[in-house]
Amino acid sequence: MIEVEAFVKRYGDFVAVAGASFAIPAGSVAALVGPNGAGKTTTIRTLCGILRPTAGRMRVAGADLAVDPILVKQRTAYVPDDPPLFDTLTVQEHLQFIASAYRLTDWQHDAEDWLSRLTLSDKKNTLASELSRGMRQKVAIACAYLRRPDVLLLDEPMTGLDPPSIRTLKETIREQSQRGATVLVSSHLLSLVDDLCDFLVLIRQGKVLFSGPLGEARERFGGASGSLEEVFFRLTGQPEEPDDQNLAVSDD
Ligand code: ADP
Repeated sequence: MIEVEAFVKRYGDFVAVAGASFAIPAGSVAALVGPNGAGKTTTIRTLCGILRPTAGRMRVAGADLAVDPILVKQRTAYVPDDPPLFDTLTVQEHLQFIASAYRLTDWQHDAEDWLSRLTLSDKKNTLASELSRGMRQKVAIACAYLRRPDVLLLDEPMTGLDPPSIRTLKETIREQSQRGATVLVSSHLLSLVDDLCDFLVLIRQGKVLFSGPLGEARERFGGASGSLEEVFFRLTGQPEEPDDQNLAVSDD
């Protein structure tokens, strides 16, 4: 479960998020959607405790972030859009590091499984410094999954992935929610979250324009087509941002 109440974040005088409120039910796959600069990364980084809110209240995975930030960090996994890895560690060593840092037991089978599902098995002994952006993304996601967190915060996780990897990633995200995790996926591309999510938070210029079940958004704002593009257009008054990022998609 993720609850955000009257969240404000300023960088100096600039207001990046201006009083956002939403509540994502436990076990949902929620999309945090908005154009570049809308405040998605700021919101996610605050939810996982990296940034401090200027004002407002957040509850993540059953804990109040202001009261028990350590508990939130233990129960939450965050994957940034360009994950920092240890260049001198191999893929396998990253998983070993996570297992040891979080004192995981019986993790080896799961690790093998994630490497195989995310087509990383043949990169097990490759140094992170030699991996493509898409592969680094998948290593960070495998590390997050290995921890079996209650809440997963994935910032633009499809960036740099090729279509088969995007399909697998979507499958694994759904599985995370089936085991009870709450997943928040940010994206500036509607097409990538349209068939994945059951909950929508639409943000623009730091303001939440809609939060609720995706079906409700389609019904209320989707017009005859019920498409997410139509929802976005009706709520923001502008067409979706052009797909600048995925033109150069590469997974190798
Ligand atoms: P999104 O993830 O939706 O693209 P961000 O949360 O990254 O949006 O950014 C929201 C706004 O805050 C943008 O205008 C961005 O330029 C600004 N911003 C983000 N980080 C900082 C920072 N560290 N200092 C100043 N402004 C920032």
